[in-house]
Amino acid sequence: MDQRHGMVNAFDPARTAALPEADAALVERRQRLLGPAYRLFYDHPVHLVRGEGVWLYDAAGAAYLDVYNNVPVVGHCHPRVVDAMARQAGALNTHTRYLHGAILDYAEALLTTVPAELGHVMFTCTGSEANDLALRVAKSATGGTGFIVTANAYHGVTDAVAGLSPSLGPAVAPAPHVVCVAAPDRRRGGDVGAAFAAEIDAALERMAAKGIRPAALIVDTIFSSDGVFADPPGFLRPAVECIRAAGGLFIADEVQAGFGRTGAGLWGFARHQVVPDLVTMGKPMGNGHPVAAMLARPALLERFGAASRYFNTFGGNPVSIAVAQAVLDVIAEENLVARARETGDYLMAELAARAAPHPGLGEVRGSGLFIGLDVLPETAETGTGECEAARIVNGLRERRVLISASGPTGNVLKIRPPLPFGRPEAEIFLDAFDDVLKTIG
Ligand code: PMP
Repeated sequence: MDQRHGMVNAFDPARTAALPEADAALVERRQRLLGPAYRLFYDHPVHLVRGEGVWLYDAAGAAYLDVYNNVPVVGHCHPRVVDAMARQAGALNTHTRYLHGAILDYAEALLTTVPAELGHVMFTCTGSEANDLALRVAKSATGGTGFIVTANAYHGVTDAVAGLSPSLGPAVAPAPHVVCVAAPDRRRGGDVGAAFAAEIDAALERMAAKGIRPAALIVDTIFSSDGVFADPPGFLRPAVECIRAAGGLFIADEVQAGFGRTGAGLWGFARHQVVPDLVTMGKPMGNGHPVAAMLARPALLERFGAASRYFNTFGGNPVSIAVAQAVLDVIAEENLVARARETGDYLMAELAARAAPHPGLGEVRGSGLFIGLDVLPETAETGTGECEAARIVNGLRERRVLISASGPTGNVLKIRPPLPFGRPEAEIFLDAFDDVLKTIG
């Protein structure tokens, strides 16, 4: 997925030679110390040393507008979050094998944000771990082993969830019990919900033909790596009915859409009027601190809990919980969900106005501050061998505005800033975008 998404293995000697000396030295050390699996953003990598709100600063003090990072959902280094972390780190940091009230207060607060059917919270450190746990629970609750994922899904890094992440590319093959379906893409025409449900039914038939019983359908509720699919709200409902009719569960992966990103409540699944069986979350939950979780309908955990104990050394430790509580509080107090909706609606309208007459731009779609914009043609390779979307991403980076790209061919601009991003920042982004558009055909 690398070059297609504007990511480069910056150790390419020709590229490294073009970098300033200090950056080239860091790139060389990275390669030597971290090995070949890491990738950097941008042809000209960014070396950041500080963040504040929606701004990031490089080693020379230059400011970059962050129009990409969803993890710092309440803004980089939010003082409330930093303070909560420092206070708790100075008081106690242990684990979930001692009694502590804060984890219970947070569990109560989190559970009030979801439908009453979801009654238990289990803590992990990463979204991958939360998904990995959800797979285990789904298998134990249903007796099935089969999973359905979208064609360019990403669900994480463990062996089990990498096998459910076709976006990692053909070298990381889907696990044998996994069936891939086309993402719910409105551009294909027709009723999106019915088409997605038909995909699920066909996948269930393929599973049955292989003698595999279904455990679950798992989707990222904003379909980030598939290319950002949000509309029409409700399109997940028929698919969820199909998987349940076959005895499987519905797992909502909220690692991308959760914590207010879509501007329509805290959770992506709520836009689709479904109540999942299991919900996983991470990334923005700790604003950069590694805390993640899985929510479950209690009945689903009965067999799992009886058969196996659960202990995650760092998952749900008092510092992580203090941070997560501060994040949830700030989202509410600063009204960030409404802000995401307002700024997102404005940005989408402005981007659509630019895209309509431009031969190089296609559909603008998304919800709140998760926006995708198609760059045409939709194949990654253009005549010059360079992906047009990557040129835009790199052009913005040269103007110190940070975005990225996603989708199966890397042609979808991914515009996904921290939620305090407002109208003034939207104008800065749009000015830079206009400037870069002058350079593409
Ligand atoms: N699910 C989705 C939808 C994700 O986008 C990601 C991370 N990009 C994950 C799961 C995995 O989360 P983590 O990197 O915290 O393990």
